[in-house]
Amino acid sequence: MRIALIAHDRKKDDMVALATEFAPLLRQHTLMATGTTGGRLQTEAGLTVERLLSGPLGGDLQIGARLSMGEVDCVIFLRDPMTAQPHEPDISALLRACDVHNVPCATNVATARLLLGEMVSLRA
Ligand code: PGA
Repeated sequence: MRIALIAHDRKKDDMVALATEFAPLLRQHTLMATGTTGGRLQTEAGLTVERLLSGPLGGDLQIGARLSMGEVDCVIFLRDPMTAQPHEPDISALLRACDVHNVPCATNVATARLLLGEMVSLRA
C-alpha cells in the first residue's frame, strides 16, 4: 500500500513512536510524508520515506492531489486539535479528498493503531 504520514508539530513525537512501533509493517509499504514529519521518520524511526513539501508550504495539498489521482491508499494524519494552523484550508481539502475517494484516514493515534493493527492482521 501507499501510505501518507502527516503530523502537526505537537503530534510529531506521537508519530515517531507510532511509526517505530509499527516499523516492521511500514517497511513493507511505500511511504510518503510531509517534509518535517518525513525527516523525523527517516532519522528517528529509520524508515524510507518520500518527503514532500512541508505541510504549511503545500505538502498536504500534494498528498491530496496524489490521493485524488488514486496514488494514496491510506492516510495517517495526526492533527493537533488545540492549535490553529495557518494552512487550515489545505487540511480541510485533504480530509475532504479522503472522504470523496473513500480512502481510510486516521486523525488520531487510537484510530491509527486500529488501522495499522488491521494491516498487520491482514498480512498474518
Ligand atoms: P510538516 O507538515 O511535516 O512539514 O511539519 C505537517 C503539517 O504541519 O501539516
